[in-house]
Amino acid sequence: MVHKIVDLQEIDPEDAFLTPAYGGRVTSQPVPKYEIPTDGMPPQVAYNLIRDELILDGNSRLNLATFVTTWMEDDAKRLMAETFDKNMIDKDEYPQTAEIELRCVNILSRLWNAPETGQATGCSTVGSSEAAMLGGMALKWKWRERRKAQGKPTDKPNMVMGINVQVCWEKFCRYWEIEPRFVPMEGDRYCLTATEATKLVDENTIGVVAIMGSTFDGRYENVKELNDALETLNAEHGWEVPIHVDGASGGFVAPFLQPELEWDFRLPLVKSINASGHKFGLVFPGVGWIVWRDATELPEELIFHCNYLGGDLPNFALNFSRPGNQVLAQYYNFLRLGRDGYRRIHQNSQDVALYLSGQIAELGPFSLISDGSDIPVFAFTTNERASFSVFDMSDKLREHGWLVPAYTFPKNREDLGVLRCVCKEGFTRDMADMLFGHLAAAVKHFDSHPEQVANSERPSFHH
Ligand SMILES: *Cc1c(COP(=O)(O)O)cnc(C)c1O
Repeated sequence: MVHKIVDLQEIDPEDAFLTPAYGGRVTSQPVPKYEIPTDGMPPQVAYNLIRDELILDGNSRLNLATFVTTWMEDDAKRLMAETFDKNMIDKDEYPQTAEIELRCVNILSRLWNAPETGQATGCSTVGSSEAAMLGGMALKWKWRERRKAQGKPTDKPNMVMGINVQVCWEKFCRYWEIEPRFVPMEGDRYCLTATEATKLVDENTIGVVAIMGSTFDGRYENVKELNDALETLNAEHGWEVPIHVDGASGGFVAPFLQPELEWDFRLPLVKSINASGHKFGLVFPGVGWIVWRDATELPEELIFHCNYLGGDLPNFALNFSRPGNQVLAQYYNFLRLGRDGYRRIHQNSQDVALYLSGQIAELGPFSLISDGSDIPVFAFTTNERASFSVFDMSDKLREHGWLVPAYTFPKNREDLGVLRCVCKEGFTRDMADMLFGHLAAAVKHFDSHPEQVANSERPSFHH
């Protein structure tokens, strides 16, 4: 968020100071909100004042909106607390942290079936958004290399993707001056398909982004079909248009729940994959990952070699210093859970998602857009039997503390409003029953109180 500077002359003087709740017991001094206090305060006082305020944040267990991990084991937390001081960039001072990052990259590249004969390469990032920037830049640089070698112009790069991409890809295109070519939704097609994607590809396409786990409804795009269609198109025209897979969620789900599904480096055109360690990788925010199938996909020009921390530190990142403890927590999860642990946790979330989506489908006024069988995320909409809108329902569920977001789909399905549930590890079958009970009660309530239905215009999800 870009924050405004508060004009201290404009606001009520009282609003310029904290109003402590329980923290008021330990301090009687006014504490300014928007300026640094002249004097400090004892640690317990500062701690209490801030804890008091944070009580106002939401209850993460009832939050079905976010994909991000909100719980880790005590041992993981202890490990993270003990390693808060590690700086990821300083591979010379913390060589063992760097070694563990390297092991995580190795683990992921094998989970994603990188060819054993090649030289896969990758790194950690702050999240999938940074990973998307790095992956997108590598695509742009590679495309430019190819064009220059052919003596062709390099001034009109474009990227092809579904309109359902996460906002990070729109950011990438705007920040790096790439023309985004979005495939809109149509009827009940809510994501990119090979047929639609290949219509938009041309010689200036730096790559096609395929999503494993759409933020709109959790579905996987068919990367295999896209790969095959692009191979044909490339062969016809002598192009080398590659695929980047945005596996923000699916990168940590598909290897465990759908190991047979071919979406990863088993497909030759998939050159790079990103994933969020802090989503289904089960680590607190923020850690993400990107892996390239081969070092040759990552132009040397993009890598900075810096020596002033001692040693040669090859680095490809948008920022410099960054906490190292999330990477250690990722490694903790790999060791602690193993393949089987990840599979069991995600299978459980998927069972809950399928159970709840099934119940909702049977209730009457809802139709499923997805059921949670790809990543454990599903979306549903209202049908002709509903006396309320998805926004009314989202508001009503809030009364019980549930955060179930409602939003409209993008172009050309702006008419479609949905509710979405992200089923994570902490969302149990018992909780699903509770949520379903509240949902069913809300349906009854709206049916008997039609005057309470707002049916107001709402802002869309993003764009
Ligand atoms: C969450 C998400 C992102 C952004 O990931 P961050 O790790 O939050 O930066 C990108 N793409 C998809 C498909 C996502 O679900």
